[in-house]
Amino acid sequence: MIRPSSRLPGFYHLPPQQRQDALAAWAALDSEQQAALAGGLDLAAAEQLVENVVGLYALPLAIAPNFLIDGRDYLLPLVIEEPSVVAAMSNAARLARAGGGFHTGSDEPVMIGQMQLLDVPDPDAARDRILAAQAELLAGLQGLHPTIRRLGGGPLGLEVRPLLHTPAGPMLIVHLLFDTRDAMGANAVNTACEALAPALETLSRGRVLLRILSNLSDRRRAWAACRVPLAALDSETFAGAAVAQGIVAANAFALADPYRAATHNKGIFNGIDAAALATGQDWRAIEAGAHAYAARDGHYRALTTWQIEAGHLAGRLELPLAVGVVGGMTRHHPTVRVALHILGHPDARGLAQILAAAGLAQNLAALRALAAEGIQQGHMALHQRRQT
Ligand code: NAD
Repeated sequence: MIRPSSRLPGFYHLPPQQRQDALAAWAALDSEQQAALAGGLDLAAAEQLVENVVGLYALPLAIAPNFLIDGRDYLLPLVIEEPSVVAAMSNAARLARAGGGFHTGSDEPVMIGQMQLLDVPDPDAARDRILAAQAELLAGLQGLHPTIRRLGGGPLGLEVRPLLHTPAGPMLIVHLLFDTRDAMGANAVNTACEALAPALETLSRGRVLLRILSNLSDRRRAWAACRVPLAALDSETFAGAAVAQGIVAANAFALADPYRAATHNKGIFNGIDAAALATGQDWRAIEAGAHAYAARDGHYRALTTWQIEAGHLAGRLELPLAVGVVGGMTRHHPTVRVALHILGHPDARGLAQILAAAGLAQNLAALRALAAEGIQQGHMALHQRRQT
């Protein structure tokens, strides 16, 4: 189905009921889906999610228009309580659109499961035995996860990482690489790690303690890039080229300084978390993975880069994004299902790429506002010096 443009001038000015009508027409929502915009989750569904439920807790669900991602129009469902984020993202998506929108990509959905082996008498020999038995070990997982296997996913390989100097002494860590297809995959990976543990104990002659996924899902990254023509950054007060230079300098600050990087990346998560919440994702898992990734060279840094290239401001965001469109909350929350419908039912990789575009849009909006403020202050100081 060819989707209408996501440029919705005037959407901002409509009362909420009329916005709902415009959204329903744009995304072809039926009456049940429209009803789910008003909350969706009931107590019975909440009982399926967590323990000791006593009620429900509402947050605003908003739409950011203007998104063009890989040539396709999107209205972005966002759940967030912080004012200005939705408006800022919509505005940044309009700027990115002037340069062809966001271009995105992603790795295959490969998660990492970890098994911790203790009291291993000879770690080198144990590593060799485990790697030699790899094919057999993976074949032993055949019976698990028939759906994921039928869809082309499942266990892919093992890696062995000795950690020789920990406060608890040496240990051997085995990584299971597992393609979880359209699932976030925590349960699937944890089950596979549990199933592997007895054979690993035999091969290593040690004992297995932890068997759980890693949230640093760096085999499962998504990225988004955009190129904004400098002229699109022009305003009545500032030249676009000066704003772009300010954005590049602000980004350089966040690449070099963890104090600034934490705030810079927090802004990125204003966009990613809002879209992740709307689509039923485990946003703690996403944040844990991305912050660890931001410190992967031992220094916590900005997750984005910005530079000026041939008359354009070019930005890129890359981060691990373990998201799913099956399982977890996507099964139980009617509003989550509507949000995924509004996005055109992406697969897990497609959703990760949309979230990356959301994060980059928020970053562009935040840096533009901060850089323009700095330019304004510089301008006023210069003005005052001239007056005196
Ligand atoms: P899940 O177990 O609910 O669903 C995944 C299952 O869906 C698969 O095992 C498969 O049987 C089925 N499935 C159907 N269609 C599929 C498709 N196209 N692709 C893949 N699988 C398909 O969910 P999950 O993704 O394994 O786990 C996610 C949940 O685990 C989240 O709610 C998360 O909060 C929670 N969790 C997270 C952590 C962590 O991040 N550290 C730890 C434990 C649990």
